[in-house]
Amino acid sequence: MLTDAHHRIVDYVRLSVTDRCNLRCTYCMPELMRFVPRKELLTDDEIFSLLQLLAEAGISKVRITGGEPFLRPGLMPLLERISGIQGITEIAVTTNGVLTQPYIPLLKAAGINNINLSLDTLQAERFRRITHRDKFTGVMQTLENLLQHGMQVKINVVIMEDVNTDEINNFVALTRENNLSVRFIEEMPFNGQGHTFSGISWNYHRILDTISNSYTLIKETDAPHSTSLNYSIPGHQGNVGVIPAYSRTFCGTCNRIRISATGSVKTCLYGNDVLNVRDMMRGNVTPAGLLSALQSAIHTRPADGFTAEKQHTDSLMESMSVIGG
Ligand code: SAM
Ligand code: SF4
Repeated sequence: MLTDAHHRIVDYVRLSVTDRCNLRCTYCMPELMRFVPRKELLTDDEIFSLLQLLAEAGISKVRITGGEPFLRPGLMPLLERISGIQGITEIAVTTNGVLTQPYIPLLKAAGINNINLSLDTLQAERFRRITHRDKFTGVMQTLENLLQHGMQVKINVVIMEDVNTDEINNFVALTRENNLSVRFIEEMPFNGQGHTFSGISWNYHRILDTISNSYTLIKETDAPHSTSLNYSIPGHQGNVGVIPAYSRTFCGTCNRIRISATGSVKTCLYGNDVLNVRDMMRGNVTPAGLLSALQSAIHTRPADGFTAEKQHTDSLMESMSVIGG
């Protein structure tokens, strides 16, 4: 078991498989984002060996993220390999939905049923303004198709002042007839754009208050390591949740680490990179040596995101696409 000094077990890894993206969401990355040369990305074999090692150490859940995962050539065969690793019982994917639709039957066949779809607006023109790309229709088709295939869909909506707060209850309305979760995420400072982030005016309380003005929210019992506070609504097939990503209320039960597409490991989203597994693997570290380095890094992780932020030596302006959201 991988544990930290605060008695938290780590059994979940969020792995970015590419830093590249076909959208430019304003809260995530600038238009002129610089991507790393492909040879710097973890190879399929490196990812497979790393996950095998982590599974032996107790990791049971893997989330594939990016950048946009479906931009990685050969993603499906890689996912199929990962699904064969003993000990990994859950694989989930976070995607923007632009290229996802043709892969839905293959994902299902590989036993990957949990898809987080990022969608911040239900309006085509606003989608273009937020993402700087004209891909709304395709993303909506992906959503429809995911639901038709019976996938477990969570829509991630980043709430931004003066951008999409007026659509909160339109998103909630989607859960009436559709068995899906809508999760409203507090905006975080990871926009890769170097301008200062002065905090948020729409925290999870304000989002919940807005929903409560139109709907009756019934608190659900959240899964043990859930980052979302979840609610059902009478008469709705789906449910809603809020993710206090900036307020950081969930650190006490955090069970995850993040590995970037270039192998940098973060034991806290708000913290420094603590080691680079790619460099260690390319330097011929033994599996035992790699595991020992990971164990030490996890052991010393900060108690919460506020402590991590204070210890953070760079500015907090990394892009989520680089960190692996
Ligand atoms: N490209 C994929 C997508 O958009 O779903 C996966 C990578 S993206 C970085 C993962 C998640 O991070 C998305 O749901 C996105 O909305 C979220 N995200 C990105 N930047 C964020 C920020 N500054 N604050 C809060 N969430 C953010
Ligand atoms: Fe791309 Fe996802 Fe970042 Fe949007 S949130 S720019 S889709 S990586």
